[in-house]
Amino acid sequence: MAYQETLATAPSYAVLAGIGMFAVVYLAGITSVSGGILAGVLGAGGIVFTLSAKYLHGGDYYPVISGILLVLIVVGYPEGITGRLHRLLSRIRPGERRATGPAWTSEPKVPARRVNGDPLFSTIGLRVRYGGIVAVNDVTLQVRRGEIVGLIGPNGAGKTTLIDAITGFADAEGTVRLGDIPVQSLRPHHRSRLGLGRSFQGLELYDDLTVRENVEVGSSAASRFPAARRSETAVLTSVLGLLELAPVADRAVATLSQGQRQLVSVARALAGAPAIALLDEPAAGLDTSESRWLGERLRSVRDAGVAILLVDHDMELVLDVCDRIIVLDLGTVIAEGTPQEIRDDPAVVRAYLGTPHAVTGGM
Ligand code: ATP
Repeated sequence: MAYQETLATAPSYAVLAGIGMFAVVYLAGITSVSGGILAGVLGAGGIVFTLSAKYLHGGDYYPVISGILLVLIVVGYPEGITGRLHRLLSRIRPGERRATGPAWTSEPKVPARRVNGDPLFSTIGLRVRYGGIVAVNDVTLQVRRGEIVGLIGPNGAGKTTLIDAITGFADAEGTVRLGDIPVQSLRPHHRSRLGLGRSFQGLELYDDLTVRENVEVGSSAASRFPAARRSETAVLTSVLGLLELAPVADRAVATLSQGQRQLVSVARALAGAPAIALLDEPAAGLDTSESRWLGERLRSVRDAGVAILLVDHDMELVLDVCDRIIVLDLGTVIAEGTPQEIRDDPAVVRAYLGTPHAVTGGM
């Protein structure tokens, strides 16, 4: 508009014209870049407006038509026209099928353990550099269906960076596979739709939204898949129930305790019905009994069919719930094994766990 006006002064932008413009922007879709572009095409002075004024002589009716469309869109498709188009496109795009199928059932049950031999998820030679620092160095690991795998290591070992690399938040060299699908070239939201869920160390919750709304944000990642969409509400209810968040579902997360906020972030990672959930320090800020309780919930999640890669410094929790543990130090895997093997591994004790003698010696 500024370009058309050739002069950007306040009188050019009258209040009513501004409201009309806002209506078109909302109509097109305010949640995406493509919505902004479509608004430019539809808006006053745009191609659609110009053609309809020229050939249909509909210029005078333009505000009326856009007003009616706005009401319909607000009621039917709050994400706007492009939100609806994105959903339609993703349904017909072949590459957007979930590799692993929705692993989460609408009613988490506790069947017999079923660790499946084929890797559900793997990384091969994953490497992340930040300038001169190699934060993740040639990491190859696998997680099978039905497993909780712990990822431990001292501060700065590269655990969060590894999760960032797997989920697409950090640039990495190497291969990341979900089932037999290589996902390393996909963007984070595509990886999420294929079944990679994650939580964040800093929680990244929306403080002014309710617990339910925060968790719903996670479920929208899976909502483009018919099977997941059908069970979306059931999954949401079951995740809130599983983590005992149902009683606080309508409270703003800003009013919750740190422990409850941690659970909301785990619930959001699970709400997308992931095949594998990568949880970054979910027990941070929990006391011993809360952390034990969380461990039981994580077992239920695993038994419902979701594999878990668990990063945490709470060794009691990790040693208790994990089937296998991988130890990182300076970005490199230094050990891998059962909790007992890890507890007894001298390299791990030296790099991370420490001994009462070492503690005494250091004091
Ligand atoms: P913690 O247990 O404290 O969370 P961590 O094992 O998760 O630690 P990372 O946060 O992954 O470790 O950090 C690994 C290394 O990469 C550290 O040396 C850190 O300083 C460095 N690093 C992480 N993020 C960045 C970044 N964005 N830019 C530069 N260096 C980074």
